[in-house]
Amino acid sequence: MVILVTGGAGFLGSHLCERLLGQGHEVLCLDNFFTGRRKNVSHLMANSNFELIRHDVVDPFKFEVDRIYNLACPASPVHYQYNPIKTVKTSVMGAINCLGLAKRVGARILQASTSEVYGDPEVHPQPESYRGNVNPIGLRACYDEGKRCAETLFFDYHRENKVDVRVVRIFNTYGPRMLADDGRVVSNFIVQALKGEDLTLYGNGSQTRSFCYMDDLLEAMIRTMEQDQTVGPINIGNPNEFTIRQLAETVLQKVQSNSSIIEMPLPADDPTQRKPDISLAQKVLDWEPKIQLEEGLDNTIPYFKELLGI
Ligand code: NAD
Ligand code: UDP
Repeated sequence: MVILVTGGAGFLGSHLCERLLGQGHEVLCLDNFFTGRRKNVSHLMANSNFELIRHDVVDPFKFEVDRIYNLACPASPVHYQYNPIKTVKTSVMGAINCLGLAKRVGARILQASTSEVYGDPEVHPQPESYRGNVNPIGLRACYDEGKRCAETLFFDYHRENKVDVRVVRIFNTYGPRMLADDGRVVSNFIVQALKGEDLTLYGNGSQTRSFCYMDDLLEAMIRTMEQDQTVGPINIGNPNEFTIRQLAETVLQKVQSNSSIIEMPLPADDPTQRKPDISLAQKVLDWEPKIQLEEGLDNTIPYFKELLGI
């Protein structure tokens, strides 16, 4: 098949391109390099089935493709809040452009949605049926509401135009190829620990997240695309839940660092708890994550060591 991956030079997108090429597909990787890097896909450039296209999803594009994975959107709060209006445009106009293309060429299309559609959840763990608790005017709204509107568009194109859609809601996923200054917690803590700097714990660290290693996530994403029964949304994540303080302590122990943990102000609207209910994914994808936090950190720390030259 010919497969378009928007946001293909980013952390998850670059691993996805690599996997799809490995399965023998032709891959078009489209990215504006906001948080993605050419370096993430430079090892794929020699493959004649791979093409890198510098383009912004906000502007229309046309390719003959069989599949579209729509990943274009900054995912770290630091980056999506840098230019919040652009973040909304990327999510909403990006979805419209991708869906318009899918409609025109009859491609199946998957949206990389997010656990942020649940906001600061009052239901725990979060099943797909939970409608969420999002502050529509807060600092995270550009991302949360942008992604919610993208889901709306996916389901409207599905109902009105019979576009063959899939939607996955991704919970915190980490791994090699995250930027050193990505701003998300796993990369921040590893980089700080490796540099011997203080680990910046926002709030008292009692808020929770459930961390999924990228290989597990990608397997579920491709399975979602290639099964015929379920449109979604499907939660994809690792249901093992940790406080952020536990994560900081685990990283310190893994890196064998003498860094201290310091408390910093908790950002507004920071969700207090998050853990996916993955029973739907278990049932329809016959999938569950295999790589737990300690092993995932063992795979990720060497990447950051090399990146930082440590
Ligand atoms: P990332 O920031 O590494 O990747 C996003 C990619 O999209 C980058 O390559 C960036 O340059 C590109 N991009 C941004 N705006 C664009 C635009 N207007 N036009 C073209 N390209 C653009 O982040 P990631 O973690 O790899 O996330 C990939 C996708 O998965 C995102 O849509 C994100 O919202 C979603 N997601 C990720 C997580 C996670 O924990 N990693 C969780 C939930 C959802
Ligand atoms: N966090 C932290 N220190 C950091 C970065 C993040 O304590 O240096 C916290 C953040 O406040 C949140 C959690 O870690 O409670 C996860 O943050 P991240 O930005 O990785 O993802 P999200 O909040 O979008 O789930």
